[in-house]
Amino acid sequence: MTPPMRSRAGKRLSVVIPMHNEAEVLDILFKRLDETVAPLGLDLEIVCVDDGSRDNTYALMVERAAGDRRIRLIGLSRNFGKEAALTAGLEAASGDLIVPLDADLQDPPELIGEFLSLWEQGYDVVYGVRADRSSDTAVKRWTANAFYRLFNVVSDQAIPASTGDFRLMDRAVVEAIRALPERNRFMKGLFAWVGFKQVGVPYTRPIRAAGSSSWPYGRLFRFAIDGMTSFSTAPLRVWTLVGIGAAFLAVLAALAIVVQVLVVGRQVPGYASLMVVILFAFAVQMVALGVLGEYIGRMYQEVKGRPIYLVRERVGFDG
Ligand code: UDP
Ligand code: MG
Repeated sequence: MTPPMRSRAGKRLSVVIPMHNEAEVLDILFKRLDETVAPLGLDLEIVCVDDGSRDNTYALMVERAAGDRRIRLIGLSRNFGKEAALTAGLEAASGDLIVPLDADLQDPPELIGEFLSLWEQGYDVVYGVRADRSSDTAVKRWTANAFYRLFNVVSDQAIPASTGDFRLMDRAVVEAIRALPERNRFMKGLFAWVGFKQVGVPYTRPIRAAGSSSWPYGRLFRFAIDGMTSFSTAPLRVWTLVGIGAAFLAVLAALAIVVQVLVVGRQVPGYASLMVVILFAFAVQMVALGVLGEYIGRMYQEVKGRPIYLVRERVGFDG
């Protein structure tokens, strides 16, 4: 092993935890953090973002923050989604090292020690790679795989497969991410886009410690479209190729008809083939319009320039 290039001595670690209806998991979460992160020899700060929970997550956290000086609590004004909640947490974090963590313990905090040693060896970002996804359903694994594959084909910046938001980042990396002005925050993409010296650590993703997931398939699909459109313009450009291809086929068809008329004479039948071509061309145009709509809608979002999240209340930030 190479000798460490950095030292953790005197450094502050911010663990950033977005929370949406996580009341059931809080006790185990803080117990595990105390067992695994507290002994690492860092000045610990726990930034919790309540993303408009409808259960009593926020009240429980206020209570907890009153008895624990390490806790900083941000209550958002409503549910803004995990990406926004994470953004709020990253903006509030004051640590030299920053780790986003899921509240449900699907990102095992035990790994942070290993992440830390790799950071000491000079890596700026150490991310967890879900080596074994057996805790996910077959459908989720398949759709996730298909997404990463497609994303990496079309996007300008590849994201490593099977990574989530769980990672340890140097302050410099977080500053870079905070400086990105876009409202549509596909975090995995932004994490990859900023670059820096990155390394992955494989781990087995456990199932949720308690409570239930806030990500139904509809939401995951929207998330996938958001990711794709913020990191690639290929879906826009592909229509140029489709158009050229269709024009080429049309020329071939025209030639075939001319030859046919010259050889066998004029032919009237052809209603079916005509209908097929018309319907197909119509469908292609509709898809192309839809893709334009996706991008224009997002440009509209960005142009409005609304804040990514709104804070209702902050607890534990003084002193
Ligand atoms: N989360 C959030 N806002 C949301 C949905 C989720 O802050 O609108 C948080 C949630 O509390 C958890 C993390 O994001 O800490 C991951 O969510 P979840 O476990 O529901 O997702 P899954 O693991 O099923 O992908
Ligand atoms: Mg989860």
